[in-house]
Amino acid sequence: MHIQEISPYEILDRITDAFFALDKEWKFTYVNKEATRLLLRKKEQFIGNCLWDEFPETIDLQLYHQFHKAVNEQVAVNFEHYSFPLKSWFEVRAYPSPNGLSVYFQDITDKKQFSSHREQHYKSLFENNPDAVYSLDLDGNYLSVNRATEQLLGYSAEEFLQMSYIPLIASEEIEKTMEYFSKATSGSTQHYETIALHKNGQAIAVKVTNMPIIVHNEIVGVYGIAKDISKEKRTEKMLLESEKLSAVGQLAASIAHEIRNPLTSIKGFLQLYKKSMKQINSEYLNIMSDELSRIEMITGELLVLAKPQAHHFHNERVEKILDDVVTLLSSQALMNNVEVKVHLEDLPQIKCIASQLKQVFINLIKNAIEAMPDGGEITIMAKKHTSTTIFIQFADQGSGISEELLAKIGTPFYTTKEKGTGLGMMTTLKIIHTHGGTMNISSTIGKGTIIDIYLPISI
Ligand code: ADP
Ligand code: MG
Repeated sequence: MHIQEISPYEILDRITDAFFALDKEWKFTYVNKEATRLLLRKKEQFIGNCLWDEFPETIDLQLYHQFHKAVNEQVAVNFEHYSFPLKSWFEVRAYPSPNGLSVYFQDITDKKQFSSHREQHYKSLFENNPDAVYSLDLDGNYLSVNRATEQLLGYSAEEFLQMSYIPLIASEEIEKTMEYFSKATSGSTQHYETIALHKNGQAIAVKVTNMPIIVHNEIVGVYGIAKDISKEKRTEKMLLESEKLSAVGQLAASIAHEIRNPLTSIKGFLQLYKKSMKQINSEYLNIMSDELSRIEMITGELLVLAKPQAHHFHNERVEKILDDVVTLLSSQALMNNVEVKVHLEDLPQIKCIASQLKQVFINLIKNAIEAMPDGGEITIMAKKHTSTTIFIQFADQGSGISEELLAKIGTPFYTTKEKGTGLGMMTTLKIIHTHGGTMNISSTIGKGTIIDIYLPISI
């Protein structure tokens, strides 16, 4: 068997790493093929030449210091080096030798680019995440926060890095939140809702995920993702409230309905009784009859709270309904020294429930009359507002409503009158809303009140 002899240099030529050897004067004594390929020079351009003359741009860079360290301290060094002229990253390992320095290196540009690409991906996911993303150490101190975290809580990244999460949690939530955090630090991801505090003191409902950060099989901290859910919470509450209200409305309406039937018969019989018992002191009967009328009025108003059925909406002329109501209330107005002035333009027909609009107009005109115990003027105006809406205004010269009371108007049973029900404005508002309209009240104490109503022509 013939064994081919290979020189050690040939071996070095065959290794995949680039390699060169330097003597004690930093002169190249050997360069392998891979090194000539990576450094884009021929062997002859290296041998005998000084490293620092051939690559002067490296003087004083890390490479320069590392090589000197290897030689001076007789230690192996390992580092990454970026070559500007070659636009490449190299991983370099250098070993001191009796003659000088042996240097192995590899082009890691692709690897670098790939990992920096990946890094950028992660960074973008972190930085541009619309949710607050942050990391905490095992004691709950912030290690990093993204922009959304800064926006959510109003602190800057620098401020966060000096803080723990605890002062940012509403006091009543701290215990629970700390428990979740500690579970995350022991390895299990947690999802929970809590209340965070903005720098300005505002409480913000947040949905949080806490998960352990695991490096080399060890938990070193906790990642957090927090989502602002205050808007959802608000809508949820509103929905619940409106659901409750409509349930109460339905209930009130059905009770009112049940009361009205026996009421009608009692009232009827009372009237008969009154007629036949003229000689008896009828004062009690009058009181009974008054009270019954009051019950009737309340139940009547409550009935309107029931959801109207779609088929009850018909095309109607609002000016006709308004006119009827004014006629109906004219004697009451006269009795109270109130003059009702009506300005009506030709209006398009609108889709509505006539009986309900009638109720609205009665409520508003009655309120206006009642607000002017010494008499005055009510001005009613109706006109086309846009091609799709009409505008109706009721203006009185009454006592007016204070700002404080204005906020309470429409709350059931809120009344300032001895014999009031406090249901008129609530039903009025409810009717306007079910007709797809809006109502505005503006009022000046001592001057009067203006009620503006906008109604869509068809809903
Ligand atoms: P009620 O008329 O039975 O008191 P409403 O719901 O109709 O109940 O009105 C609630 C309250 O709003 C009234 O008690 C009154 O204080 C105030 N209010 C309503 N309309 C007027 C108005 N045009 N001028 C002054 N106050 C008004
Ligand atoms: Mg009223």
